[in-house]
Amino acid sequence: MQQQDFDFLVIGGGSGGVRASRVAASLGARVAVVESAQLGGTCVNVGCIPKKLLSHAAHFSQLAEEAKGFGWQLDKPQFDWPTLIANKDREIERLNGVYAKMLAGAGVNVIQGRATLSGPNSVLVNGQTLHARHILIATGGTPSLPDIPGVEHAISSNEAFHLKELPRRVVVVGGGYIAVEFASIFHGLGAETTLLHRSQQLLRGFDADLGLHLAQEMAHQGVAMRWREEIQAIEKQADGLHLQLKSGEQLVVDCVMYATGRVPLTAGLGLEAAGVKTNDKGAIEVDSHFTTNVPSIHAVGDVIDRMALTPVALAEGTVVAHHLFGQGGKSAPDYELVPTAVFSHPQVGTVGLSEEAARQRFGAVQIFQSSFRPLSNRMGGEPENVFLKLIVSKADQRVRGVHMVGEGAGELMQGFAVALQCGATKQQFDATI
Ligand code: FAD
Repeated sequence: MQQQDFDFLVIGGGSGGVRASRVAASLGARVAVVESAQLGGTCVNVGCIPKKLLSHAAHFSQLAEEAKGFGWQLDKPQFDWPTLIANKDREIERLNGVYAKMLAGAGVNVIQGRATLSGPNSVLVNGQTLHARHILIATGGTPSLPDIPGVEHAISSNEAFHLKELPRRVVVVGGGYIAVEFASIFHGLGAETTLLHRSQQLLRGFDADLGLHLAQEMAHQGVAMRWREEIQAIEKQADGLHLQLKSGEQLVVDCVMYATGRVPLTAGLGLEAAGVKTNDKGAIEVDSHFTTNVPSIHAVGDVIDRMALTPVALAEGTVVAHHLFGQGGKSAPDYELVPTAVFSHPQVGTVGLSEEAARQRFGAVQIFQSSFRPLSNRMGGEPENVFLKLIVSKADQRVRGVHMVGEGAGELMQGFAVALQCGATKQQFDATI
């Protein structure tokens, strides 16, 4: 038998990979993690963290307006994009360092380089072959842009975090959570923003009312919404990017950002060499313990495309490490009751089933919903309404879904997620003072 360099070799030092390697090391395994870019992966470098910082920054323009209603006289606020980006980069660098320290402290070897599978127990990195008893693929995902003329002039969220200046006119393409978040960021920071989407529904996969309500609020704030529209070609001219639209119209802007989906990052990974199977979407197929069709190779996170969220990748990484090096016993996470926040303005928070999914599963459901203008918005002169919706299965009166659009919705949902995990009923909600 081949001499093994490691018990566990992890490809990708992002959310899932870092968690799995730390837990495995704490269980006594000899672990290495190979990372081709920065530790922390998408979430820390070009995902959750910088996005939340930019989203927070974008909120100040609205707060400054609201403050007037509460007696504050603020001079016209000025925003400086380079300051925001430099401070954001400094914070991320700090986090990269925290990850490196955390891994070193746990006894995990960090190898900088791009890894390629060369067999069921071997990985090629920096021209050297490393052998491991178990390999974990945690390479995440990557943005997918359409194949249209001039697409090289467009950016994805990856580049949006490093723009030299705030574009004056920007089009964000897409209707998912990354699209609405970035449209809110650009708009809040002062760019003339258009959200262009090929259908007429935002946040597909969420309760349909959330997308409807959010679209209304974003339009009220001044984001131009272009429905059932697509860009057919992009041409760079002296006065900006000329967009040829499907409707025949032309738009001239300074920046086009595509947020039209992400695909599992498996290109050049050597899956064929190791015999690892993927599905028709290119995601690695795994069983309930996150093992692929090759018994020594496992995969977690965005590369398996179950639910592309950091806490999900963390939970999956924990399960793998315990399964391989612990007493076992930890089962795959419950994907159904994961509370989800969308950091648009206003925010969206959701947990549980959409109305459509609940009707399909339970037949008879009861819907309780309300829309109101909160006290602070009245004083602040903000027209924004909060939207709340509760979905209850009629037969057993259990609350199956809680959905909200309004500031703080993301944080609020975490508490509701616990209640739903506990099987709370509508009567218990009502009885809570
Ligand atoms: P990643 O974190 O992507 O890590 C993969 C790592 O593998 C990367 O560091 C990459 O460099 C490395 N790698 C890839 N190939 C190789 C190779 N061959 N060799 C060596 N290293 C390799 N999730 C949330 O929960 N909340 C949010 O608010 C949120 N916001 C987001 C906003 C944006 C704009 C984006 C893009 C994503 C957001 N996400 C959010 C999703 C979240 O970032 C991902 O679900 C999470 O990072 C997935 O973790 P992962 O471990 O699967 O992959």
